[in-house]
Amino acid sequence: MISDKLSHASSIFDPTLLSRCISCGFCLPACPTYALTCDEASSPRGRITLMRALESGTLPADDPTLAEQASFCLGCRACEPVCPAGVQYGELLEQWRDFQWTGRRRPLAVRFLIFAAERARAHRIAGRLRRAAHTPAGASQHSLMLGCFERSLFPGVSRSALALAPELAVPSNQGCCGALHAHNGEPGRGRQLAEQLGAQLPGQIVTTSGGCAAHLSSVIGRDRVSELSEYMLHRVTGQVRIGDRRARVALQDSCHLRNGLDVWREPRAVLSTVAEYVELPGAARCCGAAGTYALVRPRDSRRVLDPKIDEIEAAGIDYVVAVNPGCLRQLRQGLRRRKSAVRALHIADILRLAAD
Ligand code: SF4
Ligand code: SF4
Repeated sequence: MISDKLSHASSIFDPTLLSRCISCGFCLPACPTYALTCDEASSPRGRITLMRALESGTLPADDPTLAEQASFCLGCRACEPVCPAGVQYGELLEQWRDFQWTGRRRPLAVRFLIFAAERARAHRIAGRLRRAAHTPAGASQHSLMLGCFERSLFPGVSRSALALAPELAVPSNQGCCGALHAHNGEPGRGRQLAEQLGAQLPGQIVTTSGGCAAHLSSVIGRDRVSELSEYMLHRVTGQVRIGDRRARVALQDSCHLRNGLDVWREPRAVLSTVAEYVELPGAARCCGAAGTYALVRPRDSRRVLDPKIDEIEAAGIDYVVAVNPGCLRQLRQGLRRRKSAVRALHIADILRLAAD
């Protein structure tokens, strides 16, 4: 049954954003889903054509191709930096999903994760039980963002970040930044949560999650948010060694950090300082974690990940480094399936390893 919202498709998109695409196709080679299918509908240009058809009513709102493509898109925004017309695809996708994933049409896994992200008290308790970082004595007016799922899944990341930058305050009452909501059909709630977090955390906010950094800065301002490698840029020390040689490390970019905030030189610079840095040919390409994607479309997520694991194994490296907890989880799973000797680490952990 088609809901009221779906039967009256119009004014879904910001017309200025939707009109910007000139259909040049420069974005096609950058798009991981187009690489998988070679199908125009799975490309950024094809999806914008679908959005326009939805907006104009040429396609009915319950057309199955619309549902499929809104979900198949990784939301990686690799199409943005290569676009000569400055199309803000990420925003268009948020507006599309706000419409497409209304109510029960939202994938079950996304509904569950948003429900879980809203349980701020549970995250606080999990953070305490898992011994995530807490405010040390003498902390400055800047703060470390804990991240809701990172607190439970990778509590050591915040401890490492705090060991590197002990001047940071870590308020335990902090909630979700709203990135999960914004990328999965609830942009209004996503903004509201980011504003709340901006008010809760004093000073400059340092994050260990590229996706959170991009969303938070889009709401509260770029000058208030730093990803950890930006913050640590000129203060890393030590070396990561394997026996008597420097460790060989590679980076997996965070899509939103790179394509949304243009932060990709900084993690490379800090890694080059503490180890022998190796650039993977596809470092900038999505790993398939893509927020909720690995849960919503596990098969496609693996299809995106598999060539990346091939590259990692061929590179002769000791560590592959992630700047986002979702990417870290995805890489670890892929490497474990292959029984690979390469270890995946968060950038906070490898910098701490160097400093110790
Ligand atoms: S590169 Fe930009 S303008 Fe060209 S087709 Fe892609 S989105 Fe449209
Ligand atoms: S966000 Fe990523 S997957 Fe989606 S259209 Fe752009 S490049 Fe392709």
